[in-house]
Amino acid sequence: EQWVYSFGGGTADGNTTMKNLLGGKGANLAEMARLGLPVPPGFTITTAVCTAYYENGETYPSDLTEQVNDALAAVEKETGKVFGDADNPLLVSVRSGARASMPGMMDTVLNLGLSEVTVKGLAAKAGERFAYDSYRRFIQMYCNVVLGLKHDTFEHILDDYKERQDYQLDTEMTAEDWKEIIVQYKAAVEKQLGRPFPDDPREQLWGAIGAVFGSWMNDRAILYRKLNDIPAEWGTAVNVQSMVFGNMGDTSATGVAFTRDPSTGEKVFYGEFLINAQGEDVVAGIRTPAPISHSRAEAIGSDEAPLEDAMPKVYEELVAVANKLESHYRDMQDIEFTVEDNKLYMLQTRNGKRTAAAALKIAVDMAEEGLISEEEAVLRLMPGQLDQLLHPTIAPDATRDLIVKGLPASPGAAVGKVVFDSDEAASLAEKGEDVILMRVETSPEDIHGMHAARAIVTARGGMTSHAAVVARGMGRPCVCGAGGLMIDPAAGTFRAGGREFKKGDVVTIDGAEGEVLAGAVEMVKPDLSGDFGKLMAWADKVRKLKVRTNAETPHDVDTAKNFGAEGIGLCRTEHMFFESDRIPVVRSMILAGDKKGREAALAKLLPMQRGDFAEIFRIMEDRPCTIRLLDPPLHEFLPHSEEEMAEVAQSAGVSVEALKRQADELHESNPMLGHRGCRLGITYPEIYEMQARAIFEAAVQVAKETGYSPIPEVMIPLVATRKELDILKEKVDATAKAVFQETGTTLEYMVGTMIELPRAALQAGVIAETAAFFSFGTNDLTQTTLGISRDDAARFLKAYEEQGIYEKDPFVTLDQVGVGELVKIAAERGRKTKPGIKLGICGEHGGDPASVAFCHRLGLDYVSCSPYRVPIARLAAAHAAL
Ligand code: ADP
Ligand code: MG
Ligand code: MG
Repeated sequence: EQWVYSFGGGTADGNTTMKNLLGGKGANLAEMARLGLPVPPGFTITTAVCTAYYENGETYPSDLTEQVNDALAAVEKETGKVFGDADNPLLVSVRSGARASMPGMMDTVLNLGLSEVTVKGLAAKAGERFAYDSYRRFIQMYCNVVLGLKHDTFEHILDDYKERQDYQLDTEMTAEDWKEIIVQYKAAVEKQLGRPFPDDPREQLWGAIGAVFGSWMNDRAILYRKLNDIPAEWGTAVNVQSMVFGNMGDTSATGVAFTRDPSTGEKVFYGEFLINAQGEDVVAGIRTPAPISHSRAEAIGSDEAPLEDAMPKVYEELVAVANKLESHYRDMQDIEFTVEDNKLYMLQTRNGKRTAAAALKIAVDMAEEGLISEEEAVLRLMPGQLDQLLHPTIAPDATRDLIVKGLPASPGAAVGKVVFDSDEAASLAEKGEDVILMRVETSPEDIHGMHAARAIVTARGGMTSHAAVVARGMGRPCVCGAGGLMIDPAAGTFRAGGREFKKGDVVTIDGAEGEVLAGAVEMVKPDLSGDFGKLMAWADKVRKLKVRTNAETPHDVDTAKNFGAEGIGLCRTEHMFFESDRIPVVRSMILAGDKKGREAALAKLLPMQRGDFAEIFRIMEDRPCTIRLLDPPLHEFLPHSEEEMAEVAQSAGVSVEALKRQADELHESNPMLGHRGCRLGITYPEIYEMQARAIFEAAVQVAKETGYSPIPEVMIPLVATRKELDILKEKVDATAKAVFQETGTTLEYMVGTMIELPRAALQAGVIAETAAFFSFGTNDLTQTTLGISRDDAARFLKAYEEQGIYEKDPFVTLDQVGVGELVKIAAERGRKTKPGIKLGICGEHGGDPASVAFCHRLGLDYVSCSPYRVPIARLAAAHAAL
């Protein structure tokens, strides 16, 4: 088996389609080499080795050494240098690279191959100071990444040394100083590890390779995979690549760039670089890098010379390479490059991470440029990302009390309480607090805190720092490099612009402007026209599923309509019962001892409900509206606290004791499976009759008033048997008939049922004889199929997910093989009885992309979800259809 794939010198064994085997970085290094771009030669050890390594008790395939030796020999030939050679040493980087990019998760070792012997060779060729500086960097990095020593071991040594020499900056260190430092470093390593720092380049190489494979299973990588749905089986590849040096003086540099702006999507060449530096210096945020292009430097008012001015020829070449890469990959590229003595080298390219806003703009622009098709554009935006575009930003005329300004690293706005620590951010967020994570800089150890936070602020680091990249990927607003920010975690304070704030103070983050503002600032609604409208129209062209909404208040119904809802899939009438003007009437209905009393109360409710429905029909015009009759157990409407009890008793004219007795009578030990749903209609038919009357009267009224023909779809909940539906449908039909007679107007309507009990799913063929439609109530269907109460699941579901019992929370993503199987059976049986029976889903799953795809495969007519998820469902439905 081929375990090792070479690249360089204009050719490569692999190519970009081989990401599974070579990882993203390796596959694209190969592709760039094939494209004839200047890629330092190297080789990729495949992900299959990683998998084999873990399958065989952390040992390598027996022929791996030989293949690595051969590939290394080829690199030596290509570069004219020799690994471990005293005169002309080849140095390499050892880089991890999984299929999906995992920024900062896996550590890279640079300058590998330096030893007591080879450092002299490097010094002779490239200068003493450079050689010894590289050597000490290598020792530091190798100890940290491979040998697991803490950074501060070395920091202390260096700081002490500089203090004694009275140096401020590393640049004041001479070759002799570095030599002394190296002696001290090595002594410290030997003291801590009980063995000397490895001086044999091959031992170093295998140590680093092992560390990359080992890092696949470190906690940070495991957490990142979990957050991003990356399976552990994928493994990582290892790239060994000949070094080029961006730290060889002022004619050398290193940088990162995007072919378009990853925050806004604007078509501008965008990036940052540092003169005389090595790769990760840019990302680490230790020095603040300069912009690449002139226009960008001007835009942000940078005093550093942009690459365009500092190295005009290199800049021109870089732009040409970037254009070539973008049109070759037909997507925005994120590239890493190094300049060694005025010569450009490409070290990485990948499809760039971007904010949702940028993803949208880039997709629409590229389709309009003719680079991709409209359908491809639709596929470029992930449904989950849309969420970010639908949420508010800061109102243009809001009063801004600026605390500090930094770089606009990731757009969006957020309000929350400031915390300085990632663990604290995570634990407060768990309690439902909105927090803003504020740090000097972030590292991969902060991932969980960043995820928990509403937004992130750092005092240091550029637009491509760890914080910026990760925040954009997560869709968190982020302000980076806020230089004026002084954070003192020990004192629990931060200072800026002469003001002091405390941990826990509320601030607003404006990621688009790079501003941290005091207090909670006013926000505005997002813009749904423009690019958003275009892309959604393309999505609508291809999708098969219709998208409705679950809503009942006029505000929500209106929001959903603006988001493109094509009807109401679930109007929960009981929500209207809770409004303050009607809850007393509802209570008097419940407390009434007999039918007569109930009817008197219902007569008062009728006009209120009619008004509600009329409002909904008016907004929805002639879109279909599924209205569910009363569903929850009645005791939910009764007061619970002592205070409320007293109040209600007084206004109802009964004693508190009588009220309590009544409440006790209604009490159920398992209300979810109790007196609710159609069981209420069976026992108190007058409730459903009133609701049906309100629906039909409202429909007729709106039809007369507007000329639209509302299409009420009356839905009976929690049906288990056909008989229940037969009895209740007859009552609804009779009510409709009566209303139509009284008003002289006849309207189309339907009576159908929710399928939310396993028995109903199995009996769907029979139930379809009566039902005109089914709506799958997958929340209850999940509860009743899994036998898990959603309200009680929190205590154990996490353990279930962690142990892989249910991969995903089944209340978020439909359990396709269990609950989904029942949906499938019911759909089939229902259709067999009544071809063309209308089928939809109205559980929480209606807005979950994976579940939407499942509904598409079953050929359901529509999904219904909460208003803010409507665009997500529309896009997910389009993805499913493509
Ligand atoms: P990550 O996956 O975290 O981006 P990389 O493997 O890309 O890590 O390495 C980090 C940095 O090290 C890169 O930005 C690159 O500039 C630098 N680097 C990696 N390999 C080399 C090399 N062969 N020569 C010079 N710099 C390198
Ligand atoms: Mg990289
Ligand atoms: Mg239900």
